[in-house]
Amino acid sequence: RILLNAVVDPVRDNVKGIAVTVQDITREVELNEAKSQFISNVSHELRTPLFNIKSFIETLYEYGDELSETQKLEFLETANRETDRLTRLVNDVLDLSRLESCKIYQFEAIDLVQPIEQILRTYQLNAKDKGIELIKDIEPDLPPVFGHYDLLLQVFANLVGNALKFTEAGGKVALRAYSLRSSEDQVQQFVRVEIGDTGIGIDGADQEAIFDRFFRVENRVHTLEGTGLGLSIVKNIIERHRSHVRLVSEVGCGTTFWFDLVVFQENPEFEEMSVTLD
Ligand code: ADP
Repeated sequence: RILLNAVVDPVRDNVKGIAVTVQDITREVELNEAKSQFISNVSHELRTPLFNIKSFIETLYEYGDELSETQKLEFLETANRETDRLTRLVNDVLDLSRLESCKIYQFEAIDLVQPIEQILRTYQLNAKDKGIELIKDIEPDLPPVFGHYDLLLQVFANLVGNALKFTEAGGKVALRAYSLRSSEDQVQQFVRVEIGDTGIGIDGADQEAIFDRFFRVENRVHTLEGTGLGLSIVKNIIERHRSHVRLVSEVGCGTTFWFDLVVFQENPEFEEMSVTLD
């Protein structure tokens, strides 16, 4: 962007010269484009379940008398499922927009055992219903990490939820946490967290794209249950913790997502993390 400003002489009231300012607005333009793309994707995603719900209600309303009880029940069940999908979508979009608009999160010392156990309690029943073994493998005396409890809870919920969704009966889902020490002084610097499953796996070609908003691997049974936003939320939160989510996966064998969190220390440098988040 080039801005031209006339420089006026206040005494003589005439133009003394022209000031030329050149600003690089590539990032601004890119952000605006990403925002419009996001809004258009959200609108598209919202329209589909809304259209389905409306069609089912209209059919029941207009042709209800001609439908059998079984047909009516099927229609209602589908409309109910679509409403659930709409709710999930709205919740995920709100979570993502909250994450993006809130620049300051108060980070503190987090004992990871607590959010991990909370998530295991939440998903225990679901895992049992599906015949999947849920495993907890946490190093004893794990040091606290620098983080945000609710945000980390959401990361665990999304990753464990996905692992259970894409694993067949008889499979395993494991949550592991252990400290990584530097080789010289053996000081604990990071805690590595892994969420592994023995599920259907992710093809190499899809592995990078799965973190994109609304991306879902096609032709999968559970595609309709998802919003395609879960992993973008995970990526955003882990990046706020100054880390990266990575994965190893093999089709038909399983997937493991992992990331490292900084071990908490009384150190002003860590305090900065709370306020300098972008
Ligand atoms: P969704 O709401 O669809 O689960 P996500 O962003 O969480 O959205 O995940 C994107 C896609 O990545 C999923 O639709 C699925 O195809 C794939 N995926 C995510 N986690 C796993 C996993 N543990 N095993 C296999 N595929 C997965």
